[in-house]
Amino acid sequence: AFRRGPAFSKLVLIFAASGGGLVAYADARTDPATEPSQAAPKKKVVVLGTGWAGTTFVRNVDSSLYDVQVISPRNYFAFTPLLPSVTCGTVEPRSIVEPIRKIIRKKGGEIKFWEAECFKIDPDNKKVHCRTNIGTNLEGNGEFLVDYDYLVIAVGARVNTFNTSGVVQHCHFLKEVEDAQRIRKSVIDSFERAILPDLDEEERKRTLHFVIVGGGPTGVEFAAELHDFISEDLAKLYPTVCNLVKISVIEHGGHILTMFDKRIGKFAEEKFRRDGIELRTGYRVVKVSDNIITMEDKLHVESSVSYGMAVWSAGVGARPIILDFMKQIGQGNRRALATDEWLRVRECDGVYAIGDCATMSQRKVMEDILEIFKFADKDNSGTLTVKEINDALEDICIRYPQVAAQQGNYLASCFNRMKHCEKKPEGPLRIRELGRHRFRPFRYKHLGQFAPLGGEQTAAQLPGDWISIGHSSQWLWYSVYASKQVSWRTRALVISDWTRRFIHGRDSSCI
Ligand code: FAD
Repeated sequence: AFRRGPAFSKLVLIFAASGGGLVAYADARTDPATEPSQAAPKKKVVVLGTGWAGTTFVRNVDSSLYDVQVISPRNYFAFTPLLPSVTCGTVEPRSIVEPIRKIIRKKGGEIKFWEAECFKIDPDNKKVHCRTNIGTNLEGNGEFLVDYDYLVIAVGARVNTFNTSGVVQHCHFLKEVEDAQRIRKSVIDSFERAILPDLDEEERKRTLHFVIVGGGPTGVEFAAELHDFISEDLAKLYPTVCNLVKISVIEHGGHILTMFDKRIGKFAEEKFRRDGIELRTGYRVVKVSDNIITMEDKLHVESSVSYGMAVWSAGVGARPIILDFMKQIGQGNRRALATDEWLRVRECDGVYAIGDCATMSQRKVMEDILEIFKFADKDNSGTLTVKEINDALEDICIRYPQVAAQQGNYLASCFNRMKHCEKKPEGPLRIRELGRHRFRPFRYKHLGQFAPLGGEQTAAQLPGDWISIGHSSQWLWYSVYASKQVSWRTRALVISDWTRRFIHGRDSSCI
């Protein structure tokens, strides 16, 4: 299945023109109007987070115009799309991270970075309360205050367990680099344990039952990676137990990869069945104990399976700092910070929110719901079943994987043109804004998405209704992910890891 639309050539041009990295469309022209005056002190911009949104903002903002300070408990940027590859040693952890100080140094060293966690935002006094997470000789408990004129909140999201009992204690997550490292060790440990003498067959089978909860892109990609790791590498090293291995994917919805075109979901399900990966769709996990996962179907009938290792990849929720901030500003009943189309947090002067911690304005969300309804209505009948509407609504939360980088980029370009646009506004007429707005609103551009399915096959859904499934898109995946690396160093490391894997296979040592 291979169809090319007009968007393909545009996409290739975008990749080529971007020269890799987080695509920088920012129109950061220097303009006399944007030059700071000699006398006026620079406005303080505080950025919380060094993920996709925060790092893209920092890379693109003109640091000669502002006093920029970045605060994050993580002193590096991680290329999250390659995290599933780290779980099985296809790519090494250090190959996908770039120290934030290196990124800052390229900006001329004007930006400051504090390795600390912000635990409270005080919008009335324009301050953030921070706490360092490393040993400190600061007085007290390592807490300090930072003032801001503009605050850019880009703290991302955390894993959502939906308060399911036992998940935090017994399941792995796949959100951070450390999670991927833990999973890699746990997979190899499972094999070492299963091969020990004096273990009965049932115990060996249980130990080698790998369960993935969540059939979205992350869960599916991890299942595919794990299957390849076992069949291509571990089967040779543990020949006596490899026939006992079982991989299961438990998904609440009726299908896996529901946010992709239905053809991709169908292909993935068929491929998984051929590969022996068990799919339990229509089941919701209700309890996890140290060796049993209990789930229920749509009719609330409970069943359980024993397992050796489980990975929870079933959704994201707001971080505690965001929940606290939302309560302060009257958004306590929301799941993420509400912003307007200019990414400003509603009713909060000088505060912007970008990436996974924010949602755009109601109007934009309604437009997207409408678009998703059209998407769900495959036969153009104009009518949808309750289930189709439900699936489409669930999709809205996960439709914006690349939105964080685009928002960081957009916001940086607004900051770069702030003074210029105060004099020559360029935004559309808005009655509720009492006049012309300074900037054009943020518009998300969907550049496509990939679902690697293992066995050197990937499903790609690109703009212009262009769908490609198979080996050819795996090569497209390699080129896009290599080009999107944030530095030549990580690009070289990732490519060399892929080459090493082709030649020598994956490393199965437990370190
Ligand atoms: P993050 O990237 O999560 O960054 C949040 C930052 O905030 C981090 O630096 C964190 O340390 C920091 N922080 C947290 N708390 C605080 C605090 N209290 N104070 C200060 N700083 C704080 N997207 C794609 O486009 N394509 C993909 O293929 C893809 N694959 C993915 C695979 C996996 C396994 C995962 C987990 C995600 C994937 N995503 C993918 C989604 C993508 O990673 C997210 O949408 C993106 O990371 C969101 O960016 P962000 O900057 O909002 O948050």
